[in-house]
Amino acid sequence: MELTLSIIKPDAVSRNLTGQINSLIEKNNIKIVAQKMIRLSIDDAKTFYGVHKERAFFEDLCSYMISGPIVVQVLKGKSVVSKYRDLMGATNPENAEENTIRKLYGLSVEENSVHGSDSKENSKVEIDFFFSKREIFNL
Ligand code: ADP
Ligand code: MG
Repeated sequence: MELTLSIIKPDAVSRNLTGQINSLIEKNNIKIVAQKMIRLSIDDAKTFYGVHKERAFFEDLCSYMISGPIVVQVLKGKSVVSKYRDLMGATNPENAEENTIRKLYGLSVEENSVHGSDSKENSKVEIDFFFSKREIFNL
């Protein structure tokens, strides 16, 4: 069993899609073992997306991520890091497979509705960034 960090991004939370996205997660046999709604500070957004700080879209991305509440989650399942990436679909919703979250709900390459950790190592760092041990059920 593996854990991964998921974020339902401001575009999706603001359009009332949290329940529909959670339903897709659960239908795919992935368990939500922690979840909370928060609003990121600009410093948190810049730290979280630090690997992208040289990219042209970095400032825009950080402004977007603090534009409204997000839902951060810890997901648990077999090979859930790659499984959730598959369920999310490609970064650009235009390139995402049918029935993926980004194909169904993404608005643009930036406002693409969800984040998921891209490796097991990063999932640990990202989960620790948002959650304390006592907030995660069944760790
Ligand atoms: P992913 O979220 O699929 O792992 P990246 O790690 O490459 O994608 O990028 C992080 C986030 O930055 C994306 O989910 C998206 O919100 C935003 N982003 C990525 N590429 C672009 C781009 N070319 N223009 C604007 N925003 C982008
Ligand atoms: Mg990424």
